[in-house]
Amino acid sequence: MKINLLGAQIDPLTLEQFAEKIALSVEKKLSCFVVTLNPELLYRAQYEKYLLAMINRADLVTADGIGIVWACRTTGRPVPQRVTGIDLMMRLLELAAEKRWRVFLLGSAPGVAEAAAQRAVKLFPGLRVAGTLHGYFSDHENDEVVSKIKCASPDLIFVALGSPRQERWIDENFNSFGMPVAMGVGGSLDVLSGNIQRVPEWFMRRNLEWLGRLLREPSRWKRMLVLPKFMILVLIRYKIKRFGN
Ligand code: UDP
Repeated sequence: MKINLLGAQIDPLTLEQFAEKIALSVEKKLSCFVVTLNPELLYRAQYEKYLLAMINRADLVTADGIGIVWACRTTGRPVPQRVTGIDLMMRLLELAAEKRWRVFLLGSAPGVAEAAAQRAVKLFPGLRVAGTLHGYFSDHENDEVVSKIKCASPDLIFVALGSPRQERWIDENFNSFGMPVAMGVGGSLDVLSGNIQRVPEWFMRRNLEWLGRLLREPSRWKRMLVLPKFMILVLIRYKIKRFGN
């Protein structure tokens, strides 16, 4: 059963359970749109309702971002764990190599997706890369991008165009290439390619990945302002309202 948080339906599953469900979709050639939901996207979706509708059209929604995990716990419907795009992508790449699925990497700056694919093949020998394309294409070039992906006929596509563009792109183009699994992965190809290091374990173990990223990329501070606003919204919507009743 899904959990409703501020109108978005979240799947309360572990990373391994997500991987199992996705594996089943790939095996059965069923489409599967995966959203890794963070507070930024959910907060924005409160004001841009088409984003909320899009999240709810996804087949699977993970609780990405410690803010979402906190909100689910605070409102009494906890999720078993935080499931980030990069962690789920790495597990799926491992499974893809094992099961001979073909993967496509779309997004990030020119050269990054290729470097990420090379690194993935080293990490997961036997991985079949159906293709790579960078993420700096215009609306006019979109048809060409879609037809290249269609020709490559991958089983899984990881889309790194930044959120919410990547989710919108999947949502809008999904039917045109009849793909079994598509997932937005944000900056994960930058990390996989080795261009950017993931924040040290120390931060992750303390649920402070957001702080680690902020220290490394101070320009993210504006985006981070959403976190306290999101937390206040959750408290108002679920705690104060209940207290008032
Ligand atoms: N990106 C892209 N095309 C664009 C804008 C962004 O391919 O038009 C890429 C960008 O190069 C980066 C990723 O999308 O690799 C977004 O990374 P970010 O760290 O912003 O995503 P997050 O993980 O925070 O969602």
